[in-house]
Amino acid sequence: MASFDFDLFVIGGGSGGVRAARIAAGYGAKVAIAEEYRFGGTCVIRGCVPKKLLVYASRYSEAFEDARGFGWSVEEPSFDWPTLIAAKDKEINRLEGLYRKGLESAGVNIFEERAVLQDRNTIKLASGKTVTADKILIATGGEPNVDPDLEGQEHTITSNEVFHLERMPDRIAIAGGGYIALEFACIFAGLGAETTLVYRGEKILRGFDEDLRDAVMEAAQKRGVRIVLGQVFSKIEKTDRGLIGHLDQGGHIEADEIMMAIGRTPNVKGLGLEALGVKQGWNGHIVVDGDSRTNVDNIFAVGDVCDRFNLTPVAIREGHAFADTQFGDKPWQIDHALIPTAVFSTPELGTVGLAEHEAIESCKVLDIYKSTFRPMRATLSGREERMLMKLLVDGETDKVVGCHIVGDDAAEIAQMAAIAMRMGATKADFDRTMALHPSAAEELVTMRNKTETRRQAAG
Ligand code: FAD
Ligand code: NDP
Repeated sequence: MASFDFDLFVIGGGSGGVRAARIAAGYGAKVAIAEEYRFGGTCVIRGCVPKKLLVYASRYSEAFEDARGFGWSVEEPSFDWPTLIAAKDKEINRLEGLYRKGLESAGVNIFEERAVLQDRNTIKLASGKTVTADKILIATGGEPNVDPDLEGQEHTITSNEVFHLERMPDRIAIAGGGYIALEFACIFAGLGAETTLVYRGEKILRGFDEDLRDAVMEAAQKRGVRIVLGQVFSKIEKTDRGLIGHLDQGGHIEADEIMMAIGRTPNVKGLGLEALGVKQGWNGHIVVDGDSRTNVDNIFAVGDVCDRFNLTPVAIREGHAFADTQFGDKPWQIDHALIPTAVFSTPELGTVGLAEHEAIESCKVLDIYKSTFRPMRATLSGREERMLMKLLVDGETDKVVGCHIVGDDAAEIAQMAAIAMRMGATKADFDRTMALHPSAAEELVTMRNKTETRRQAAG
């Protein structure tokens, strides 16, 4: 038997890598992990967590306005970006420390440097040192796309830089129409910036249920996000008054910052995958089986680098399942169905299961229940807003196959609906459940009248 320095070497100290390393070490494996930037990875350092803190900050402007309807008089509120960023940084440092401590307590050997593959059992570290391992887990995540052909793209920022801006932009333009573009457009609009979203297609949030897309787009526009459709930036020009983003169909946008939120690419550059013959997909993502194993049988990969569902809880579970299976003698595989997800726009959307365009592909008969209503808070605040709840039900089995929400706490509601749907809940189960009054979520158990029944086209 060959002997190695480690039983497991993990490349990447983000959500998936840290979980896998800790769990494997807990089973007694000799584990090492390399991280080239900061422990915690994208989610903790420059993703979900700092983003959500900024989302909270951005929603205060509305809360101050709404408070008047409830009898409060609020003097002209003011906002200080450096204070927010300093508080956010303090919290992120605290969380990074917890991640590191978790690894240390589990007895994981830590390398704070870049690691790449030299051969199927050898890892080369940036310091020049090499170490060997029986199994290798690649958990290197992804990085924001930039458009190398865009003239002046060096003047733009991505989600990596946005968390560290020295001053809050008075005017920002954001390219993209997905999660990050929408979330940051609503953050900056809420904080008072003149915000423009530039999306190449006809309607933002491609892939989500059409009703969600319409509702979020309308609500974002009402909250002051200007949305330019069917265009991309063709050139970015820097002037002494800021940036000018030229649009490919004519016209331009003046801004202090231009942010590219046009997707992410798996972090595989220079890792040494090609020399080892590790199979990769169209954008370089690592191809793995249900056990997260690549075609090189001692090399595994989890999380965004596999480009399956690029969400933190998925990366964490994939890392956990890998460690349980390979080191804990408890084999299990992730079921990637019914993953709840949210876009933390304002208002936010929460969703689980199939969108209507997907459900009609898999259900012969599809019952649609849809309700839009004015949330109670809006009655006194006077805010013009509607909440949307939509349930998609398989007309043959009565199973709820899709649940879509736009409005306050949509993410929280979708998480709970996901439990019921994972258990196979039917519409009758939803109907049998007592309403919790007064709440917005009670609408999900009181919708009795079908909005529509759709039937699959024959053949
Ligand atoms: P990562 O967390 O990206 O970790 C990979 C780590 O590997 C990084 O720390 C990197 O520095 C390191 N690394 C890379 N190459 C090497 C190397 N060669 N050697 C050593 N280290 C290396 N998901 C949600 O579920 N909810 C959200 O609200 C949410 N918001 C997001 C907001 C933003 C702005 C972004 C960008 C992402 C967001 N995501 C969200 C997605 C989420 O962050 C990712 O799905 C998750 O972090 C993936 O975890 P991972 O372990 O695969 O990779
Ligand atoms: P998304 O894939 O969500 O959106 C990318 C957007 O950029 C799409 O609107 C896409 O348009 C557009 N686009 C792609 N290429 C170009 C181009 N060359 N020029 C102009 N526009 C382009 O990616 P994000 O970057 O927003 O986020 C990455 C991933 O991170 C998400 O998919 C998600 O998995 C995760 N994430 C999750 C969050 C959450 O859970 N709340 C929050 C943030 C990120 P089109 O639709 O036409 O292809």
